[in-house]
Amino acid sequence: MNSKIIKRTAACCGIFLLLAGMVWAGDAAGKKAQERISAAVSSPIAERPQVALDAGHGGMDGGCVSVNGTAEKGINLDIALTERELLTIMGWEVTMTREDDRSVYDEGVTGLAKQKQSDMKNRLAVFDSCKGAAVSIHQNQFTDSRYSGAQMFYSRRNSGGERLAAAMQRQFVQLLQPENERETKPVDDELFLLDKTDTPAVMAECGFLSNPEEAAKLETPEYRRQVAFTIMTGMLGYYAGSIHNS
Ligand SMILES: [Zn+2]
Repeated sequence: MNSKIIKRTAACCGIFLLLAGMVWAGDAAGKKAQERISAAVSSPIAERPQVALDAGHGGMDGGCVSVNGTAEKGINLDIALTERELLTIMGWEVTMTREDDRSVYDEGVTGLAKQKQSDMKNRLAVFDSCKGAAVSIHQNQFTDSRYSGAQMFYSRRNSGGERLAAAMQRQFVQLLQPENERETKPVDDELFLLDKTDTPAVMAECGFLSNPEEAAKLETPEYRRQVAFTIMTGMLGYYAGSIHNS
């Protein structure tokens, strides 16, 4: 490990601890911590790591619906926007597939099927143009309401995605869901974005909207911030591993 990496790692750890305090304690940590973070991140970083964030669904496509009637698309977007905030503070370069409640199909495309096709193609373009990593944020649903807990999916032929999924799954268990025994899941062509991109990518199913307790949690901004923070720590773990291996 050279001194540049040690310095960068030390700075990251400091920011990480400050952020942990802020996210977990809400706004109590206050302005002082924010000032210290701003000072820390203003130090130059040679290459900013890149990440593409995808808030699943949007616009006419609400995704699944919670037991209380909340659409998945809004939960995904809120987590993704917080994620952008956290990763930007950490010095990452973040691109988003969407920043508001809409489908991202090309203007002028008509018909649901064609709009969906165009929407996915545009999301894929955002993933492909990112050199670092990509995360698609979703919520799960099942006919049996007992099922709960986050689960990460990756493409079988994407080794970066596999490592990213493992790092994130680990963090969900460590920080949010100690009882979660789910394993990361490889997929083939059933998930378009994961299948088509060469960027290390993960679909993060953060929880089950069909489970009343988990749905209630995901409907609070506090829990969504904790989910975003958990994903961020997974990204940092993955990135640290990538530096170590390079
Ligand atoms: Zn979804």
